[in-house]
Amino acid sequence: VNIRFRHPRNPIIGDKFSSRHGQKGVCSQLWPDIDMPFSGVTGMRPDLIINPHAFPSRMTIAMLLESVAAKGGSLHGKFVDATPFSDAVKGANGKTETESESLVDELGSMLRARGFNYHGVEVLYSGVYGTELTCEIFIGPVYYQRLRHMVSDKYQVRATGQVDQITRQPIKGRKRGGGIRFGEMERDSMLAHGAAYLLHDRLHTCSDYHIADVCSLCGSILTTAIIQPQKRVVREIGGLPPARAPKKVMCHACQTSKGMETVAMPYVFRYLAAELAAMNIKMTIQLSSEALKSSNPIFGGAVGMEVPVEEGVLDS
Ligand SMILES: [Zn+2]
Repeated sequence: VNIRFRHPRNPIIGDKFSSRHGQKGVCSQLWPDIDMPFSGVTGMRPDLIINPHAFPSRMTIAMLLESVAAKGGSLHGKFVDATPFSDAVKGANGKTETESESLVDELGSMLRARGFNYHGVEVLYSGVYGTELTCEIFIGPVYYQRLRHMVSDKYQVRATGQVDQITRQPIKGRKRGGGIRFGEMERDSMLAHGAAYLLHDRLHTCSDYHIADVCSLCGSILTTAIIQPQKRVVREIGGLPPARAPKKVMCHACQTSKGMETVAMPYVFRYLAAELAAMNIKMTIQLSSEALKSSNPIFGGAVGMEVPVEEGVLDS
């Protein structure tokens, strides 16, 4: 059985609409009907207000013509012939079928015949203050339709949630509660604004923040391992207090726990080191004394690459 639901949705801020001239746009504000401006002639309120800057670059003159034609047509109770280039169509007697050479002249006189402005403008009053607006405003009926792109299908928000297993960075995808990518252009924007701390917060703290144990002797982040503390029974036999010993880390390569340091870094950096190690490239981190002194360590060391010559995989 196949069941389909029809679910009516009221227009909300962020929904997309369009006239029949490709003048698509997004609803940016929903005003109460009473706050909309109203006509001084008819008292009618517009359903929709469009920014006039939408017209010069897109050159959708037909939308303005539709508006004037619909206004004239509704005032006269007639249908308006919208055939393009109708003045070029010759009748049987060799003359044009329309009264004038220009459609605009015809439409303007239709409005004037009913006492309206020739160009379709009207005096409007503020719905909030009741005062006359300082300029006349072009107003008329235009057919508008709703487009299928609606915010309720598209909005995406996340605090914390699922992370990728390999990189430990937030996953992508609206369905899975993923994050929105903070890409190169966003990074450039932050840098241009000088918002370095915000950038660090987005790209590191809120992403794959990771505190790695680094061996300052050999510079490796991959050869470190946690030493398991002694079991409680063993400790009690040895006359030691039953408290848990602090976590100890050692370097397998150097066989010592001396020189172990913690460095905050993105988790993908560790992944990069592992990928390079798989290609027989050793990555070393040289920790500078300034970074070691810092109580709140950020990634302050230098990174070096090294290909072991003895193994000779890349040497030949
Ligand atoms: Zn080491």
